[in-house]
Amino acid sequence: MRLSKASWQTYKEIPKEAEIPSHQLLLKAGMIHKSGSGIYQYLPFALRVIQKIENIIRQEMDAIYSQEITMSMVTPGDLWKESGRWDLMENLMVQFHDRGGKDLCLSPTNEESVTDIFRRLVKSYKQLPVSLYQINTKFRDEIRPRFGLMRGREFIMKDAYTFHADKESLDIGYDEMYKAYSNIFTRMGLEFAIVEADAGNMGTNESKTHEFQVIANTGEDDIVYTEGDYAANIEKAATTRVGLEFLNNEDMSEVETPNMRTIKDVCEFIGTKQYQSLKSLVYTAVWPDREEHFLVMLLGDDELNELKLKNYIGCNFLLMTKEETMRDLGLIKGFIGPTNCSENLKVIYDKEIDLNCSYIVGANKKDTHLKGFTPSENCNSEKVQVDLRTAKPGDLAPNGKAVKIKKGIEVGHIFQLGDKYTKAMKAQVLNKEGKKISPLMGCYGIGVTRTMAAAIEQSHDENGMIWPISIAPYQVYFAMIGKTDETKFLGLDIYKELVAAGIEVLFDDRGLGPGQMFKDADLLGLPIRLTLGERDYKVDGKFEIKLRKTGDTEKVSKDELVSVIKNKIKDLA
Ligand code: ATP
Ligand code: MG
Repeated sequence: MRLSKASWQTYKEIPKEAEIPSHQLLLKAGMIHKSGSGIYQYLPFALRVIQKIENIIRQEMDAIYSQEITMSMVTPGDLWKESGRWDLMENLMVQFHDRGGKDLCLSPTNEESVTDIFRRLVKSYKQLPVSLYQINTKFRDEIRPRFGLMRGREFIMKDAYTFHADKESLDIGYDEMYKAYSNIFTRMGLEFAIVEADAGNMGTNESKTHEFQVIANTGEDDIVYTEGDYAANIEKAATTRVGLEFLNNEDMSEVETPNMRTIKDVCEFIGTKQYQSLKSLVYTAVWPDREEHFLVMLLGDDELNELKLKNYIGCNFLLMTKEETMRDLGLIKGFIGPTNCSENLKVIYDKEIDLNCSYIVGANKKDTHLKGFTPSENCNSEKVQVDLRTAKPGDLAPNGKAVKIKKGIEVGHIFQLGDKYTKAMKAQVLNKEGKKISPLMGCYGIGVTRTMAAAIEQSHDENGMIWPISIAPYQVYFAMIGKTDETKFLGLDIYKELVAAGIEVLFDDRGLGPGQMFKDADLLGLPIRLTLGERDYKVDGKFEIKLRKTGDTEKVSKDELVSVIKNKIKDLA
C-alpha cells in the first residue's frame, strides 16, 4: 500500500477512558474508531491484523478437519427457549422482535444454532464425529464494556463445536483442538499459558476445560503456574501451603482484645503468626426457595476463593453485614468465632487447617478472642473440610514445585459441554445398536479482536506497538525521505520490487519529514523499517533497515535489499 493513496489518520488526543496500552495505541494509530459503548469500527490496518489472525485460525482448523460455516448473527428466540437459555441470558443478550412479534436476539454465542444444524444434518453414529466452526460477530451486552477491544460488546469470535458418540471420542476431539489452539497462538508469536479453568455450572465434573491466556501485565486473570508443567486459573488452582508451624494443642482460654478487630492487630498483640489464628467469615447462601448461613474458617492470612465456595455450596452467596450477623445470628463482627454458634450456622473449614492444632479465634463476645481453640475438641458441629482458599505465590502446586502468579488475558477457551444442549434440544442419533443417544459436545472459542488487543498489551513500548511478524498489518514500513524526482522514482521502483517478491510493504511516500514519518512508523509498529534517505543514498548508495523490536540497524545496498529483508522476515517468524 502507498500511504499517499491511503486513508490514514493518526491522533494525538485520545479520550481519557482509554486506560490500557492496546486501547490507547489502537486509537492513536487510527486503527479503530469508537462507534458506541463497546462497539468499534475496524479501519484498514486493524482489519489486516484481524484477517491475518483469522487466516492462521482457518489453517489450523482445516488441518484438524473442522469445517467452516457461517451461522446467522440474528437467532430466533425459539431455539433459546428450547435450551432454556432465553430467560437465563436475558441480560447478556440483546433481545427484540420482528414486525410479526417473533422473538429474536443478537447471538452472544451459538450452541443452540449449531445444535439445530447438527440435528438436521446427522441421524446416525456413522456420521460422527462432527466438527464445525465459524468466525463471526458476536454481541454481548456486557455490564462494563471496557479496555477497547478487550471487553467489547460487539466483537469477533471464532467458535467451533464438535459432536461425538461417546466420551472417548470427545476426549480425542478435545485434544486435537487443544493442539490446534497451541499452534494458533504459537504461530501468532504470542507468549501464552494454557491453564486449567473452572467448569462452573456449564459442564459436569468430568468436563475438561482449559483457557489460553496471553501473558500481559494488564490481564484481568491471575494465572498460577510453576516452571514446566503446571498452570491453572486462580479460580481453579488447588495449591497447598508450606512451612506452617501450627500451635500445639493447649487449653482454651479467653484473651481480652479491646477494639482489635483485625487479625493482624490481634496476632501482634498476642504474639502469634497470623496463620496461627483462624479467620471467620459469615455468608448467606441464597437458593431460589430458601437461605442458609455459613461460617467459613480460613487460616488468618488466607483469602477466600469465592468460586470454590460457590461450587461447594452450589449457589450464589453474600457476605453478611455487621447488622445482619448481629440481627440474625447474634454475632459481633470482629469477634466472630466457631464456638457457641447458633445451630443455623454451618461451619466449613478450609483444608489447610489442621483440626487437631490450636488457634486464636473470635470468642463471639465483645472485645474478646480465644486462645487454644482446637476444632476437633472445641467445636461440636460437623467438621467439614473443603479447599476454599485462594492460591498464593510460594504455595506448592500438585507437581510439588513452588508456584508464581502472573497476569493473563483469556484469548481462547475450550470446553467439554457433554449432552446439555443435545439433550435439551433433542438432537439424537442412532447408535450401533439402533438406540437413540444424545451426542456429547465440545465448544471452543477464540476472541479474535481480543487477541489483537492482547498482542499489543504483550508487546509495545512508549513509542507504539511492536507487532509479531505473523499478524503485523504489513511486514515492512518503507519510509522515503526526499523530494527529487530521482528519489521518488527509485522509491517507487523499490516498492514494486519488494511487493513483487511477495513482501508486504507499507510505502510512506507522503513526502513528510523524517521526524513525523519515523514517529508514525514507531506508532504503527511494523516489524521492519526500511528507509531511503536521499542525502545518505547520494553518499553511500545504501538503504537503512531497522528492526522495531530491538532497534538494531544496518545499511544495505539496493541489490541485496530483497534478500536481506526476506531473511529478516524469516528470522522474525
Ligand atoms: P470473559 O471471562 O473474559 O468474560 P468468557 O469466558 O465469557 O470471557 P467465552 O464465552 O469463553 O468468554 O468466549 C470465548 C472467547 O471470546 C473468550 O476466550 C474471549 O477471548 C472472547 N471474548 C469473550 N467476551 C468478550 C468480549 N466482551 N470482548 C472481546 N472478546 C471476548
Ligand atoms: Mg471463557
